[in-house]
Amino acid sequence: MGYERPNIRRMKGYAYGEQPTDARVIKLNTNESAYPPSPAVAAALASFEAESLRRYPPAMADDLCAMVAERLGVEPGQVMATNGGDEGLRLAITTFVDPGETFGMAEPSYSLYPVLAAVQDATMCAVPLAADWTPPACFAERLNAAGARLACLVNPHAPSGRLLDASAIAALAKALHGVLLVDEAYVDFVDPGRNHDLAPLVSEHPNLLLLRTLSKGYALAGLRVGFLIGDAGLIEPIRTKTRDSFNVDALAQTLAAAAYADAAYAAQCWRSTRTERDRVTAALRRMGFAVPDSETNFVLATATADGPPAKTLFESLRDAGILVRYFDSPRLADRLRITIGQPAENDALLRVLAHMASGSD
Ligand SMILES: *Cc1c(COP(=O)(O)O)cnc(C)c1O
Repeated sequence: MGYERPNIRRMKGYAYGEQPTDARVIKLNTNESAYPPSPAVAAALASFEAESLRRYPPAMADDLCAMVAERLGVEPGQVMATNGGDEGLRLAITTFVDPGETFGMAEPSYSLYPVLAAVQDATMCAVPLAADWTPPACFAERLNAAGARLACLVNPHAPSGRLLDASAIAALAKALHGVLLVDEAYVDFVDPGRNHDLAPLVSEHPNLLLLRTLSKGYALAGLRVGFLIGDAGLIEPIRTKTRDSFNVDALAQTLAAAAYADAAYAAQCWRSTRTERDRVTAALRRMGFAVPDSETNFVLATATADGPPAKTLFESLRDAGILVRYFDSPRLADRLRITIGQPAENDALLRVLAHMASGSD
């Protein structure tokens, strides 16, 4: 028995995707960018004055938030910076959900949500997604009946890659009594042809909060910068009360601004990722895997009934030096979540899978 609160004693911590130390491992398991950050980040790092670290950073990361607000077409007061997207999630829960009150989510989804809810000692209401990975028609009704103060929805969805359009999100925000947080960790990879943009919705829905991160789309998972975007009335209590006073450090603010400013480079990486995503999807389907269309930088592949089970594929890939993600949970146990890598990495993956699928070893 320790000194921690009973809910902390009872709960399990977050299970990270494996981070191997061997640089030869082909790492397709945690949805990091296949490409390095913009060269502008290395340049900003090289010219960063260590002397400036003597001072506290701009508390509100104003310059960075102004850039994001301008790009998204929202007011500066509708954006705040966070220490990675994950801090934004934690802040939303601690700001909007009292201990004992209900936190809502769709299932399956980001496995950090239940962990954060347990830390807050919130009651969990997890609504199963429909077979096509969209929220069921009763989603808002069930969350309202459970008294959910906050509900999180990943869109495009992880781990399926499925995108809900703006009208569906608007309808959910309207129907929900609590706050709807749309986790847009992967939104940068959405095909521009879809014209997908939720930012205009925040001015129309006072309970809609968007989460963005530079971890995936800007190849900065190691830097820890994300954003919450929403009505000023939602953002204000977080910005002025619940966040750490200097939650985004000076180096992170500088490097994040450099990456975000190089929009052309980011767009090029997203385009390459989409091209590879479509190629990998088609190749997996030819091998017999069921793969839903993905609007992210990963795909979810269901193992074939007559081939090796997903867990075996996961282990064999691992033996071959290729890490993908396997979730041993009811809806996902027959699937692999595969991050889209660089072309040669994807080729290696497809080679091993084709070899296994053909039954040879
Ligand atoms: C990666 C990810 C995040 C945020 O990651 P950070 O590195 O903390 O910015 C949030 N939600 C989902 C679903 C993610 O996959």
